[in-house]
Amino acid sequence: MLKIENLKAGVEGKEILKGLNLQVKPGQVHAIMGPNGSGKSTLAYVLAGRDGYEVSGGSVTFDGHDVTEMSPEERAAAGIFLAMQYPVEIPGVANSYFLRQALNAIKKARGEPEVSAAAFMKLLREKAAVVGVREDLLKRDVNFGFSGGEKKRNEILQLAVLEPKLAILDETDSGLDIDALRTVAEGVNRLRSPERSFIVITHYQRLLDYIVPDVVHIQAHGQIQRSGGKELAGELEEKGYDAMIGAVAA
Ligand code: ADP
Ligand code: MG
Ligand code: MG
Repeated sequence: MLKIENLKAGVEGKEILKGLNLQVKPGQVHAIMGPNGSGKSTLAYVLAGRDGYEVSGGSVTFDGHDVTEMSPEERAAAGIFLAMQYPVEIPGVANSYFLRQALNAIKKARGEPEVSAAAFMKLLREKAAVVGVREDLLKRDVNFGFSGGEKKRNEILQLAVLEPKLAILDETDSGLDIDALRTVAEGVNRLRSPERSFIVITHYQRLLDYIVPDVVHIQAHGQIQRSGGKELAGELEEKGYDAMIGAVAA
């Protein structure tokens, strides 16, 4: 599904990803761990096609298509979803309206009919119930005045509504408390399916107690240095990054 080969990419002329390889199959949950500054968020942004991130080598294909040639909108339409590490607040725009626009933008790009306001509200209420978002948060402005936990739930709601094939969650540095970690984990577990894959970027070994990943990667110095099963996260907790990636020069 997702195939990243020898990816070199960076921002503002600085190379951050230095030959990164990663393959994700349908239905798999991959966790990427790694020390601060190893380029984990950069990888997420490069996959989503964020402005300013330049690919200088290697390839990224998704369902056989060259992702690097696609606009962010085309990537979303293809089913790639990036949850924001720091969710944006959008005063003046109702959450339900924002979500419907996001869904309809994807539908339009796919050449599918748009969803009417009434049909969307029905869908949204169903999804909100599934992921545990209170109804009043649907009417409020996007993330505006939401607590940290409510923002996390809202992010999971976006995921539930947009139904991506590949969801990338970057939880690094975001200071999640244990309840928010649980929210993310429950959301991911509920939305896991044989067709949907996840890349969960995290500092927190604890998150992986709740989301049991199929594959764990350790990223350092812009490369995936180690890959293994879920036990790799435990080993990492025990030994620390230095011991696990110590042999690799910066
Ligand atoms: P991680 O998510 O693993 O902590 P990042 O992808 O955020 O790592 O950052 C990787 C490296 O790239 C860091 O050294 C960081 O300082 C640098 N970096 C990130 N964003 C920028 C930017 N906009 N301009 C220059 N350097 C950046
Ligand atoms: Mg960081
Ligand atoms: Mg980061």
